[in-house]
Amino acid sequence: MVSQPDCLFCTLVAEGDHVNEADGFVAIEDINPKAPVHLLVLPKRHVDTFRDVGEFPADETKRMLEFVADTARRAGLEDYQVIVNVGRGAGQTVFHLHWHVLGGGSQFE
Ligand code: AMP
Ligand code: ZN
Repeated sequence: MVSQPDCLFCTLVAEGDHVNEADGFVAIEDINPKAPVHLLVLPKRHVDTFRDVGEFPADETKRMLEFVADTARRAGLEDYQVIVNVGRGAGQTVFHLHWHVLGGGSQFE
């Protein structure tokens, strides 16, 4: 399934204010930043969690990782963290796979 009804991030993929966009992916600003720079990379394809990353075709997975790096580079970050919370117990609150890109120091250390 590419898009899921009632998914917040599917809605933001379609309508949101994107700081970076490529075929298959967007990046947005986190609404509640936990670092001076806090971006979220969202694949347009809906999968609930990183556990389901195997649903992405191999080339799309590679492009997704490159898009994460490109998003950080465009934000002017050389040193940064890339974090994926997987499951409620690890702090995942939105069940559409997303990659946190954190720069300038975060609470995760
Ligand atoms: P996680 O806790 O790993 O699922 O991350 C979800 C992230 O989405 C949190 O850092 C939230 O601050 C962020 N978030 C929630 N709603 C929005 C929104 N409408 N726009 C941008 N970021 C959001
Ligand atoms: Zn979704």
